[in-house]
Amino acid sequence: MSAVQSIETFILTVPRSTPYLGPLGPGERVNARGYLVRHGNGTLYPTVDRSVLVRITTADGAVGWGETYGICAPRATCEIINDLLAPELIGRDPQDVEAIWDDLYGLMRVRGCGSGFHTDALAALDIALWDLRARAAGQPLWALLGERQRELIPGYVSGLPAASVAEKVRMAEAFAAEGHDAFKVHAVVSHDGIVEEMAALRAALGQEAMLMVDLHWKFDHAQALALARQLLPTGLTFIEAPLKPEDVAGLVALGQDSPIPIAAGEEWPTDYVAQLRLHGGTLRYVQPEMGHTGITQFLRIARLAARHGVQVAPHATIGGGIFMAASLHASAVIGGLWRHEWQHSIFSRSVEMLDTDMAYAPDGYRLPTGPGLGAAPNARFWTHATAVA
Ligand code: MG
Repeated sequence: MSAVQSIETFILTVPRSTPYLGPLGPGERVNARGYLVRHGNGTLYPTVDRSVLVRITTADGAVGWGETYGICAPRATCEIINDLLAPELIGRDPQDVEAIWDDLYGLMRVRGCGSGFHTDALAALDIALWDLRARAAGQPLWALLGERQRELIPGYVSGLPAASVAEKVRMAEAFAAEGHDAFKVHAVVSHDGIVEEMAALRAALGQEAMLMVDLHWKFDHAQALALARQLLPTGLTFIEAPLKPEDVAGLVALGQDSPIPIAAGEEWPTDYVAQLRLHGGTLRYVQPEMGHTGITQFLRIARLAARHGVQVAPHATIGGGIFMAASLHASAVIGGLWRHEWQHSIFSRSVEMLDTDMAYAPDGYRLPTGPGLGAAPNARFWTHATAVA
């Protein structure tokens, strides 16, 4: 395979009528740069959907696409790629994708760049290199990653972006009528109370429905444990991200103490970060996010989870669909897959910007077919994309 010759970066910006996670809550406002702080967890969110994409081309013209987070300060990620990583990637053989990840990560290891924008940039490049290799081989990406365990990737409904409990219940009932059987609520916008909201959903959807709640890193150990005990009668499958990401010992302890299983991991970029938290085997679900991990680290985290007997419930987030496609290919080959998150308000729009047959139905995702990711930007994508040099 010929060497990497060029790397281009793009910011994809797609307007949305209702902000991600639902309408603005009491006292929430949009600042001059188009961001808002969700009071539920003190976290910054943009009012548009945004991601960063890369296109890698080799000397003989082979192309691969990758994508990562770009919701906040996307030009920072582009600058890391263009200024730091691309000059060291140009000239490398895409066959060496795992060694490339290790080398590029190592460039900034001693400067505290073991997560965040740096590893996001790596994720985009890693996905693009894997896509390029599979396309060049004329094979679907999963075939390079391992043995396919499944063509249908089971999923669950994530988010009921409505302003009140009554509206959320109506939204969930409409999904249930279509055949969806598992629902996760985002507590950061549970303005009427988490326990009240989950109880209302259980009453409306019946005992058969699977219910989960994402706690968005809001609590300390004692608060989360008290909440888990209050939620116990609601019969939840898991509570997600209960504690601040820095509280590693607390998360391991809560996994032991909580009467409801704990899920975590959407913000973990590497197996270095994951292994500290999986230590002790107290978590029950790990949620790797392809937009942060890339394929190389997604698979390393999944292998680590398997060694600890932890199920994998891949995360889905705001993006243009490229890292989503990568996540499905990786999910097709790993052991211990539970279900893959389905962000309905994002997925349906991203597939419109891609040439792909990737799809979602109430029983799960259809793995895209064709070489590589089985997904590439189409004309509609280009109306929302800006090149960043
Ligand atoms: Mg989450």
